[in-house]
Amino acid sequence: MNPFDLTGRVAVVTGGNGGIGLGMAQGMAAAGATVVLAGRNATKGAAAVKTIKDASGKAEFAEVDVTSESSCRALIDGAAARHGRLDILVNNAGTNIRKVPDVLALEEWHKVMDTNLTSAFVCTHAAYPHMKKAGGGKIINIGSMLTVFGLPFSPAYGASKGGIVQFARACAAAWAKDNIQVNSVLPGWIDTELTVGARQQVEGLNERVLARTPAGRWGDPKDFAGIAVFLASAASDFVTGTAIPVDGGFSMLG
Ligand code: NDP
Repeated sequence: MNPFDLTGRVAVVTGGNGGIGLGMAQGMAAAGATVVLAGRNATKGAAAVKTIKDASGKAEFAEVDVTSESSCRALIDGAAARHGRLDILVNNAGTNIRKVPDVLALEEWHKVMDTNLTSAFVCTHAAYPHMKKAGGGKIINIGSMLTVFGLPFSPAYGASKGGIVQFARACAAAWAKDNIQVNSVLPGWIDTELTVGARQQVEGLNERVLARTPAGRWGDPKDFAGIAVFLASAASDFVTGTAIPVDGGFSMLG
């Protein structure tokens, strides 16, 4: 038996229509899973589905606004109904508003927290009964280096990324009895749409990232294919509540 085989499994990836989410979805599809790529942008969604299908994988796009509870619940229940099961949930959708705490407005705080953290609660809450019924499941939350470190220009983002990892631990502890493993991935600095803006807005960021990352490069969404397969498969059945950096060594340096 191949412990990394995902044949017959169904995965929902929020923000799976691009960036890190798509990299994870590509990995799981290559391992045999059917992946539901969820996001707002249907054009990106169609391109992402084509990328996976061109590689002989099984994928579909599902429109969702993760800041809406009803939209999240429709995503999860719809995927489970269409495919008859839900085995894997990746809480990956995320955003950032780069402002120091004294100028961040409450409305901006809520936007980041709703997108990054509350969405994970709602999707996870909706997924639990399906996983429990199936006798097990895998939930992967996407944290950040800002789960661990602080930066002046990301107060809500850092709070959301600390929160999503602690939320994963609570679920891991509560649902071990149901054979549901809940883990987090902490990406380092990865070249995606999200960080294109950061590189423009934060002077010297590119040079600082390259200088501090022992691997000597920015990460690529494809760097997340392997960790997704590991955390979504039987290979990680005795791994729960942990947070794994995928950062080219960024976080090990003092
Ligand atoms: P992208 O901007 O490429 O991906 C973000 C994804 O989230 C998009 O697919 C987007 O879909 C989706 N999304 C955002 N808001 C919503 C919403 N309201 N409803 C539905 N989907 C939404 O960036 P990344 O791939 O970099 O980010 C993925 C995750 O990785 C995020 O949680 C991010 O915080 C985290 N991360 C990224 C790092 C990096 O260096 N890139 C570092 C650490 C963590 P759509 O376009 O359809 O709105």
